[in-house]
This record gives sequence, structure tokens and C-alpha cells, in this order.
Amino acid sequence: MMGTSIPSDELIITGDTNSILIMEDNKQKELPCIKCGKCTEVCPVNLIPSLIMNNPKKAKVLNINKCMNCGLCSYVCPSKIEVREKIKAIKEALK
Ligand code: SF4
Ligand code: SF4
Repeated sequence: MMGTSIPSDELIITGDTNSILIMEDNKQKELPCIKCGKCTEVCPVNLIPSLIMNNPKKAKVLNINKCMNCGLCSYVCPSKIEVREKIKAIKEALK
């Protein structure tokens, strides 16, 4: 599940674009985090995505820079939270 999701078909294709996957729009409403820990279980770099997401001021201490933007945390989240996107936004804000 590497890559970036975008809501429209307006995109710039560059030389490093490997593929484009067009999926049915079945976005579900985000529900509150139920602290199930599934995002932590799957994170390949051993982050605690929900903790970072809910404590942006502690993101650096929680090693946000190790995030490789894989999207597994979003994929497994039963509350349909865009965890990766939230972490990405926090990371960008810290630059
Ligand atoms: S998988 Fe989703 S609901 Fe579960 S702890 Fe992570 S962010 Fe919260
Ligand atoms: S997107 Fe980042 S925080 Fe989420 S599972 Fe991948 S490495 Fe971990």
C-alpha cells in the first residue's frame, strides 16, 4: 500500500511515477480512535502512530521522522482514520 491517495484525477505524472491505481470512491466516515493498537502492530518502523497523531507536540520525541509513509496504519485502522495522512501533515509542519 505504498503511494499517495488523491481525491481527484488532476495530477502531474513525472518520470518516477510507477503506476496509477483508480479505485471506487467508497470512503467511509472517520470514527474516533478506539485505541485498539492495530496501527502500532503493523508499523514496520515500530512507531506508535495513534500516539503521534493524538500528540503532535511530542511527535519528534516519538520518532516521527522514522515514518516511511507506507500507509499500513491507515489500511488496518477499524475507525477508517487516515492515520498516514495525519502523520504526514504533522511531519511537514515540523520542517
Ligand atoms: S488503528 Fe485506528 S483506531 Fe486503532 S489505535 Fe490506531 S488510529 Fe486508533
Ligand atoms: S505510514 Fe508511517 S506510521 Fe504508518 S505504518 Fe507506515 S511507517 Fe508506520
